[in-house]
Amino acid sequence: MSFKTENSKDVIGCDLAPDMQLNLNVRGLPPSATLSINERSDRLRKQGLTIYKMGLGQSPFPVPESVVDELKRNAFQKDYLPVKGLLELRHAVAEHHIRTYGIDCTEDDVLIGPGSKELMFILQLVYYGDIVIPTPAWVSYAPQAQIIGRQIRMLHTHAQNGWRLTPEQLDELCRSDPSRPRIIILNYPSNPTGTTYGLNELQAIAKIANKYRVVLLSDEIYGKLHHENEHHSIVPLYPEGTIFSGGLSKWCGAGGWRLGVFVFPKCLRWLQDAMAAVASETFTSTSAPIQYAAVKAFQKSEDIDQYLYQVRRILRSLGRKLISLFMDSDVQVLSPQGGFYLFPDFKRYGEKLKIRSIATSQDLCEHLLEETGVAMLPGRDFGRTPEELTARLAYVNFDGKKALEAAYQVPSELPLDDHFLQSYCAGPLIATEILCNWLKNL
Ligand code: PMP
Repeated sequence: MSFKTENSKDVIGCDLAPDMQLNLNVRGLPPSATLSINERSDRLRKQGLTIYKMGLGQSPFPVPESVVDELKRNAFQKDYLPVKGLLELRHAVAEHHIRTYGIDCTEDDVLIGPGSKELMFILQLVYYGDIVIPTPAWVSYAPQAQIIGRQIRMLHTHAQNGWRLTPEQLDELCRSDPSRPRIIILNYPSNPTGTTYGLNELQAIAKIANKYRVVLLSDEIYGKLHHENEHHSIVPLYPEGTIFSGGLSKWCGAGGWRLGVFVFPKCLRWLQDAMAAVASETFTSTSAPIQYAAVKAFQKSEDIDQYLYQVRRILRSLGRKLISLFMDSDVQVLSPQGGFYLFPDFKRYGEKLKIRSIATSQDLCEHLLEETGVAMLPGRDFGRTPEELTARLAYVNFDGKKALEAAYQVPSELPLDDHFLQSYCAGPLIATEILCNWLKNL
């Protein structure tokens, strides 16, 4: 089979098939799993099918009004900003960091980028070391490492441990080659599991990371969405080796604004500077109006605290309700502690699914999408074996603006009950019921 079109030689000036001209690391790389499921869901919807979009993990909530107002006020900002970010914003991020984690830091330790995803990519590019990823893990860490050509070490975690990496696992890996340079990516609350680490667990991991002097990338993009507002960070526990990663995408509902932040320990300034050099030759600087608006988001304010209180309250109540629906159907799933994801395991239906030729998480999600309209992402996309019947469900398919407005009206001492959830968060409830009925009728 030839890939060459009639004019390809003229256009690309070479006899090789176009895909053979791709960098080896990129050959066969599919588009990001989350973006693909979103586009596929949209296509099916356009064909007139009812689709429950639980594939893409996007916050359903609007950006806080005060932050939107700040963006409007700064629409005129048109100049390129410093590569490392707007000084005022870096200052606000540092102050926020000091307030939240009691960490000694200044604006010099902060790097702003167009999304934390881009910063992670550049980090992997500039740091020469293996990438250690506890799975299930967010879908983009491994493809980024693959694009760059880094060696990936997956450490598989288990539901019995709350999908958390154990210090013993980390110790075993590091012990095998103690002086090898490594970046360990820790994401909590987790995408895809919704679970997180307690202080003791973080202390134990920090001890091992410190023992082997590894670089720890602490991806806390869901930190402010801890359902009980009890998020602990590993940053103060291993300050000299931990890079904090966060941004506006999740807690501020501003994924499309593309603003991410890294905070570095002072002894990794060389790494920060190398990243800034690459940034200066690639994205130049992050969008100016967005950076000005982001200052507001990182400053302490009553309206943002209130917003976050309500957002957490909705996610907590909805998460609990969905868990009870899954439990009633004998699906194994852990209660979410933060963010807006669940990671159910359908293995108890394994025999029945096999009779229908559903043997992998990929088969499961394809069948579910076609037969019920429920869009989820297979566990395989999160680094799990294809045969493990897990999937990620993002419970975000509801009108977050309406739900938020309604939550403000419910006195804070009262729970958000079933009536509230059915009125304002019906999408995830209906989808979960449809999914459970499908399982029961297998
Ligand atoms: N880390 C995790 C765990 C995520 O889920 C995401 C977005 N889905 C990111 C990082 C990247 O977020 P952004 O680039 O929007 O800052």
